[in-house]
Amino acid sequence: MSEALRLSGISKTYKKGKPGEVCVLSDVNFTLQAGELVGLVAPSGAGKSTLLHIAGLLDTPDSGTVIVGGQDTSGKPDRERTRIRRQDIGFIYQFHHLLAEFTAAENITLPQFANGVSKRVAEKHAQQLLASVGLTDRASHRPAELSGGEQQRVAFCRALANSPRILLADEPTGNLDPATSDTVFSALMELVRSTGLSALIATHNMELAKRMDRIVRLEDGQLVEIEQP
Ligand code: ADP
Repeated sequence: MSEALRLSGISKTYKKGKPGEVCVLSDVNFTLQAGELVGLVAPSGAGKSTLLHIAGLLDTPDSGTVIVGGQDTSGKPDRERTRIRRQDIGFIYQFHHLLAEFTAAENITLPQFANGVSKRVAEKHAQQLLASVGLTDRASHRPAELSGGEQQRVAFCRALANSPRILLADEPTGNLDPATSDTVFSALMELVRSTGLSALIATHNMELAKRMDRIVRLEDGQLVEIEQP
């Protein structure tokens, strides 16, 4: 099995050397295999977002390396890190962060344009992604005209717009009511499985985490594997 993502010896301290120093990650080691779906559980404040941002090249660790698809990203200039992020990584936040003035379909085509994809191909791909989450008839709706669950499903499509190899999600259904969260989470799982993506998905919800291949917990700045029955 090939590796999609590897974190080696990742440490991160906020306000280092200053009053109120917070050591969030301390020698975190983690490997995400290609096609693997891993749940990341931890109480609020444990450092899930910090870890996901470092893994997604949105933040840099104090020490350690982030290897994306076999490529060591440490020490690479910002422009190169941005290129790797755009090409290889899809990110989903708790809140959808869709662009309010654009339609659902446009929110999915725009990131593709940033990667040099033609209008015709980008639009076709957006329609395919929307169809895969049951939103064909909402393509021309703006975010404000969609329900919370629909907005988040569009955000999933946007994260997958550039066919990344890795999906990172930070409490992707944490903002939805339990019933909606369950259906929307199922849509996400299906999307991930059908595209063969590797995913690291943070969730508070142990029932949702149990539907993944493996669960890791962030505890005292370190990642530990949880044994599943
Ligand atoms: P989680 O996503 O698990 O809720 P975070 O990664 O957001 O946790 O935060 C982990 C810890 O680091 C928290 O105690 C938070 O207060 C602290 N923290 C996060 N970002 C910063 C920052 N920019 N400066 C100082 N402390 C921060």
